[in-house]
Amino acid sequence: MRLKGIKRFHYARDVEEALSLLSAYQGRGALLAGGVDLARSARGDLEGLIDITGIGLSYVREDGGALRIGATTTLTELLESKGARDYLAGFLREVLRQVAVTPLRNQATIGGAVVSAHPWADIPTALVALGAEVRWVGEREERAPVEELYHQRFRAIFRDAVLTEIRLPAWEGAFAFEKLVRSAYDIALLNCACGLGIEDGKIAWARVAVGATPHRGRRLTWLEEGLVGEAPREELWSWVRGEVEAKVEVGTDRRASADWRRKVAGALIARTLARAAERQS
Ligand SMILES: Cc1cc2nc3c(=O)[nH]c(=O)nc-3n(C[C@H](O)[C@H](O)[C@H](O)COP(=O)(O)OP(=O)(O)OC[C@H]3O[C@@H](n4cnc5c(N)ncnc54)[C@H](O)[C@@H]3O)c2cc1C
Repeated sequence: MRLKGIKRFHYARDVEEALSLLSAYQGRGALLAGGVDLARSARGDLEGLIDITGIGLSYVREDGGALRIGATTTLTELLESKGARDYLAGFLREVLRQVAVTPLRNQATIGGAVVSAHPWADIPTALVALGAEVRWVGEREERAPVEELYHQRFRAIFRDAVLTEIRLPAWEGAFAFEKLVRSAYDIALLNCACGLGIEDGKIAWARVAVGATPHRGRRLTWLEEGLVGEAPREELWSWVRGEVEAKVEVGTDRRASADWRRKVAGALIARTLARAAERQS
C-alpha cells in the first residue's frame, strides 16, 4: 500500500452524497471502489476517501441482448452473473477469466477498471471492441461511447464525477478475446478483442481492437473495413497477418519491443478473428 496521508474515510449512501463529499474536498478526496488501484497510488495530496460500494451501483441487468452493468459491480460478480454467461455466448467471461487472479477480481470493480484504464489492461480493449457506452453523473448526467471517452482527458472528468453504469450493446454475431502474456498471471504484452457478423457466408461487419501496444485498446478501422464482404477462410487470415504486420502502430516499452509486437500482432489478430468466425459456424 503506497497511499499515505488519508485523514478521513466516508461511506457514501448514494450518488448525490458521494458527489457532495467529493466536491467538499476540492480535489483532495477520491472515490474508492475496490481500491486495487487506489491503494497503489503515489498521490500524496489526498485527505479523504469516499467508499462508493454501498451506493446501489452493484448490478448486472439484461436488456434484450444488451447488458447494463453498475459501476461498482466486482469483476467476480460480473463473471458469475447470468448476464455475463448469456451475453455474446460468454464473451465477457472469456475476457474476465484472463484478468489478474481471483482475489483481485473479488475486489476490483468494472467502474474502477474503466477509470484506471491502464494501457496494458484487457477490459478497455474489450469494451472498445464492443462499442460500450459509459454513463456518469457530475454537474449533470452524461454519457459517451467508451472509445470517445478515452480520446478525452477522462481521468480529469472522474475527479468530479461518479461513473454509474456501463452499457454493452446487443450484437448479432460473435466475439473472441486473446492476450499474450509471459505467465498466466502476468499483464498483457498485447491483447486483442474481435467481433464478426457473418451473413450468407460473408462478413457483414467486423470489430477489431488491439491493446497493450503499448497503448490502450484502439480499433483498427482500416482492417475492419477490409474484412467486410470477404468470406472467413484461411486465405483471409493470411491477408490479415500481412496487413497488420505492415500497418499496425506499435511501440516499445519495458515489456516488449515494437519489432516483436509488430511480428506477433498479425498472428494474434488473425487467430482471434478466426475464433470469432468459428463461433458462428
Ligand atoms: C496486480 C494487478 C493486476 C491486474 N491485472 C489486470 C489484468 O490482467 N487485466 C486487466 O484488464 N486489468 C488488470 N488490472 C487492473 C484492474 O482491473 C483495475 O485495477 C481494477 O479493476 C480497478 O478497480 P477498483 O475497483 O479496484 O478501482 P479503485 O482502485 O477503487 O479506483 C481506481 C480509480 O478509479 C476511480 N474510480 C473507481 N470507481 C469509480 C467510479 N464509479 N466513478 C468514478 N471514479 C471511480 C478511483 O477514484 C480511482 O482513481 C490489474 C490490477 C492490478 C493491481
